[in-house]
Amino acid sequence: MGELVIKDVFKTYYKNKQPINAVKSLNLHCKNGEFVALLGPSGCGKSTTLRMIAGLEDISLGDITIGNKRINDLHPKDRNIGLAFENYAMYPPLTVYENIGFNLKAKNVPAKKIKEEIHKIANLLDITDLLDMKPGALSGGQKQRVNIARALIRRPDVLLLDEPLSHLDGKVRQRMRTEIKHLHTEINCTTIIVTHDQLEAMALADRIAIINDGVLQQFGTPLEVFNNPVNEFVAGFIGEPPMNIFTVVTVYDNGKPYFKTENSVIKFEVPDKYLSYVKEGEKYKFGIRPTDITISTGGNQYTIQTNVSVFENLGEECRVHIRIEDDNILSVVSNEIYHFNSGDQIKLLFNQERIHVFDSKTGERIDKVLQLL
Ligand code: ADP
Ligand code: MG
Repeated sequence: MGELVIKDVFKTYYKNKQPINAVKSLNLHCKNGEFVALLGPSGCGKSTTLRMIAGLEDISLGDITIGNKRINDLHPKDRNIGLAFENYAMYPPLTVYENIGFNLKAKNVPAKKIKEEIHKIANLLDITDLLDMKPGALSGGQKQRVNIARALIRRPDVLLLDEPLSHLDGKVRQRMRTEIKHLHTEINCTTIIVTHDQLEAMALADRIAIINDGVLQQFGTPLEVFNNPVNEFVAGFIGEPPMNIFTVVTVYDNGKPYFKTENSVIKFEVPDKYLSYVKEGEKYKFGIRPTDITISTGGNQYTIQTNVSVFENLGEECRVHIRIEDDNILSVVSNEIYHFNSGDQIKLLFNQERIHVFDSKTGERIDKVLQLL
């Protein structure tokens, strides 16, 4: 059983006797067969977490269990884990076949059984044609597939993938992503993938754990983290182009509360559901995704009226960028194709239901309590 539980885990490295807290009080409960992505910027502690699960790093504090068995003190080879790292070296003089079968051979598994297993896995990963080749002759995508085959041949309880696609580009990357997803549905093994690419995490994972500076920010399905980011960090990290986020202050006008940017370009009536959370004169971070703004052509229904700074026609969608403040751009993405020139007047309508409001100091979603109820 591959249920993986990370409980109150810390990792402290020491560099020149100075502590570096790479992972801080991490709690994650991954269900058996679940596909989980660890997502966050470079240096946030993703690989460290994976390496602690694999047994390549000691756990400073806390426990990790797999299928109810505490693994903190188990030797890496006794944890029944499959590992595929970005640059996991193969043995160059050995063929792909020998590389994949290496561990089984070391465990004295009979040659006939090894052959059977290798062919099964090779078939699954579509690498049967490569089995007689040497690693040096493989392309990046092929190497990655062989790496994954080597991890899977152990029939692990948990498969760990550390940025498996980051060295691949364009089409190969896209194709490998689809293949990994397909593979996961075939083998149904608890899988943890580390990535700094939010699109990859969104496309692959059942749930995403977003980490910043060693601290778990949110653990949820792709839709949960997209639609209900718990804080400003998650809001800004998930989504491309990123969520538009502005500092606003709450002001009253004719008895009605508004979120207003300092220069008044945005003045947005506070939706009812936020009324009990906002205070007059208080600053907030106001967020809205580029896809939650519509371009209104004519009519009086609009949130802001302004001028186009940059217009991009990307074929299947168009993007309009507007300078709201000196260093803050509002982006709009539309599936309908418009044609604008820079300087054109434009009216935009914000979707009331889709705005996000965060505390200006802590970055926490102000209606978090409401979300949890
Ligand atoms: P990520 O995989 O998210 O990019 P890492 O887990 O590799 O991040 O690193 C997290 C933090 O721990 C970083 O600040 C990194 O510099 C530090 N770190 C990682 N490995 C070591 C090590 N062996 N010794 C000291 N510091 C380390
Ligand atoms: Mg890493």
